[in-house]
Amino acid sequence: MQAVDCVVVGAGPAGLTAAIYLARFRRRMAVFDAGRSRAALIPRSHNHPAFPDGIRGPDLLERMRAQLAGFGGQPAAARVQSIRRSEAGFTVEAGGETLSARGVILATGVRDRLPPMADAVAGVKAGRIRQCPICDAWEVRGRRIAVIGSAPCAVGEALFLRHYTDDITLVTLGAPFPAPPAVLALLARAEIGIEMRKVRRISHGAGQGVVFHLDGFGQLPFDVAYSGLGIEPQTELARDLGVECDAEGRIVTDARQRTSVPMVWAAGDAVTGLNQIAVAMAQAEIAATGFHTEMRRREGLTLL
Ligand SMILES: Cc1cc2nc3c(=O)[nH]c(=O)nc-3n(C[C@H](O)[C@H](O)[C@H](O)COP(=O)(O)OP(=O)(O)OC[C@H]3O[C@@H](n4cnc5c(N)ncnc54)[C@H](O)[C@@H]3O)c2cc1C
Repeated sequence: MQAVDCVVVGAGPAGLTAAIYLARFRRRMAVFDAGRSRAALIPRSHNHPAFPDGIRGPDLLERMRAQLAGFGGQPAAARVQSIRRSEAGFTVEAGGETLSARGVILATGVRDRLPPMADAVAGVKAGRIRQCPICDAWEVRGRRIAVIGSAPCAVGEALFLRHYTDDITLVTLGAPFPAPPAVLALLARAEIGIEMRKVRRISHGAGQGVVFHLDGFGQLPFDVAYSGLGIEPQTELARDLGVECDAEGRIVTDARQRTSVPMVWAAGDAVTGLNQIAVAMAQAEIAATGFHTEMRRREGLTLL
């Protein structure tokens, strides 16, 4: 059985940052990735610091993988199936391999709930279907915007976006909208429309924006649509390990990115907090440094 110091689960911005730091700390590590980083969907990020002309999500990941390769690291394209506690630390099953690890960094991210349309991913990559107003509301200021959904997170997104445009409609896709009177009053004050008619199909295209084809007659055209359908934390491994998660299913950590299970750290979107690249990177830097420091302490070679 291969023995490593640390297994990093996930190779998005968080996992790759952790891996770069661990490689430079001269730690034996294995990095596994199931290949569904949200960053790979970003057409071009304009809010990630240090890129005045923006950077495409896939290019950012490629740069990080190249940086890691420079220190001898390479993520394996495999899903981690299980992590169990063992005498040495943890036993990890991934890609038909079994490894023993002293510690684990979980960087498994979240999964976006996309609108019900066959080509939703293509719409996201083209920037017509959007997932994150904090990331890219600036780019759609003054435009006609639909926010898809009827849950509180959709209402929150619509109100957030109202700061950027006065043309916003909440499209519930035919779902009822039993909001309390205070919420309805708030939406009315913000002049946010509510469209509850059933939608047969959603289409999108260059020069066409996003079009909601109503069940009966008619179409509702918008420049872009935001999905207000929320996210699903990818935290099954954490929960199987007994790691504490919050009500939304995201991993709870302390300020040093330690989880409730000793020798398990977590970073990135999977952790409670703001879903942003720079946050994921910063948390991973803290997690990897914490892991290395703890190993040095266990090796009896630190004052801490
Ligand atoms: C359309 C879109 C636009 C965005 N724009 C911006 C922006 O402009 N600026 C910004 O700061 N943020 C933006 N974000 C958010 C940003 O993409 C995320 O904050 C960032 O990717 C989080 O990094 P992460 O490493 O935590 O998770 P991810 O990048 O999602 O990576 C997690 C990885 O873990 C893997 N994984 C999960 N479970 C397992 C397992 N069991 N075994 C192995 N691997 C596993 C997944 O397959 C995935 O590859 C955007 C997101 C989207 C969807």
